[in-house]
Amino acid sequence: MDNYNLDITYLEKRMSTVNSWEDWAVFEKEFFDDTDWPEKDIDEIIKESEEKAVYHNGLKWEHITVSYELSPEYYYWYEYCSDYIFKKLEPEQHDINTNEQGKWCAYCKVYTDNSDMRICPFCGRKLFNMQD
Ligand SMILES: [Zn+2]
Repeated sequence: MDNYNLDITYLEKRMSTVNSWEDWAVFEKEFFDDTDWPEKDIDEIIKESEEKAVYHNGLKWEHITVSYELSPEYYYWYEYCSDYIFKKLEPEQHDINTNEQGKWCAYCKVYTDNSDMRICPFCGRKLFNMQD
């Protein structure tokens, strides 16, 4: 995962200069180029998809399976940037999603259908709107 060490200060500085979907495509290519991402093998994906939901403070958290083999930290920052730019470029749709869609933790790979949650109770990181 050495290739995916991110300089977060630089990342955030660059992210603040993204003002269009064209900028985002360039940004994404620079920091999060998925053509290089290793994929999990199918057995691993099947095994993960069978993971049972966990319950925490009255909420059900379902496991989310992602097909790439990436460090949780790196995946979190990818979602962090995606969410940031979506909010910046499509604020109205982002608001709707924030209020209506469930939330997921890109670090822990868990999902709840409770839209009011903001912080992951397992790792303390920001939760993101679940995308379809
Ligand atoms: Zn988490």
